[in-house]
Amino acid sequence: MAQTLDGKLVAQKVLAEVKAGVSALKDRTGTVPTLAAVLLGDFAPSKIYVANKKKMAAEAGIASRDFLYPEGLSQPDLLALLRRLNADPAIHGILLQLPLPQGCDEDEAIAAIAPEKDVDGFHPMNLGHLLAGAPTVLPCTPAGVMEILDHYGVELKGAEAVVVGRSRIVGKPLAQLLLARHATVTMCHTRTRDLAAHTLRAEVLCVAAGRPQVIKGEMVREGAVVVDVGINRLESGKLVGDVDFESASKRARAITPVPGGVGPMTVAMLMRNTLQAAKRQLQV
Ligand code: NAD
Repeated sequence: MAQTLDGKLVAQKVLAEVKAGVSALKDRTGTVPTLAAVLLGDFAPSKIYVANKKKMAAEAGIASRDFLYPEGLSQPDLLALLRRLNADPAIHGILLQLPLPQGCDEDEAIAAIAPEKDVDGFHPMNLGHLLAGAPTVLPCTPAGVMEILDHYGVELKGAEAVVVGRSRIVGKPLAQLLLARHATVTMCHTRTRDLAAHTLRAEVLCVAAGRPQVIKGEMVREGAVVVDVGINRLESGKLVGDVDFESASKRARAITPVPGGVGPMTVAMLMRNTLQAAKRQLQV
């Protein structure tokens, strides 16, 4: 049976480091890192995500300020809000909860956030720095995956790594991070002809497809390390990943569970990004 890679445990470790960093920053500068939480519309999962992020911020000693618009905002008003937050020296990070309601242009909104306050790491300039090999702020979920792999001492240099999914927020940046650590990276997506042929080669298999249990045990190489980024709610209400945990854990050497794997890491990395953003803005 595979070892469980415990994201909750690693997230607690990261949070403890962030908490100590926040406290040291406060002692040194009198400033409390502050996150602006911007939420448009009434989408229930987004409300839960924002509430979780604020709860973890409070645990880490990070202040948060709410900018909640259940009725939504027009695109010009959203851009004006982001400009105000960019200019406010008391705000160090801007969390713009996605997806935005219909009618809003996500790309334009993300690009309107000051890169130094982009704690999600989605701004094109920050993604460009990552591609250029000099990352400033890392997207939270891929950074959380790397943190789990590092915590458990997974060797990446020269490893065959396969990433399933090529989204801008998970798959693409994760592939870059693995590449930067000298893995040999293959990216798979919906047009990949024979998915199993690739996944079966993977010593490190990271899956972010958004398709419940699309990766079955027989698609996993014996002894692989499997990181399941997916979070899917079945009609029964059960939360499952993109990997069939039961069959995959019979072949993998180690695997992240869902829930309790990558999920808690994403929020912890957001807190780390907020602390780092505050430090950069305060130039300490
Ligand atoms: P997305 O829908 O933007 O992208 C999915 C990608 O997977 C696409 O590039 C698509 O080409 C690929 N794909 C889809 N079906 C496939 C298949 N059958 N075979 C091969 N490739 C396939 O999704 P996303 O935003 O990257 O999120 C992926 C999953 O991760 C979702 O379940 C999401 O809920 C979850 N997620 C979790 C966290 C977390 O904190 N754990 C954060 C972000 C996303």
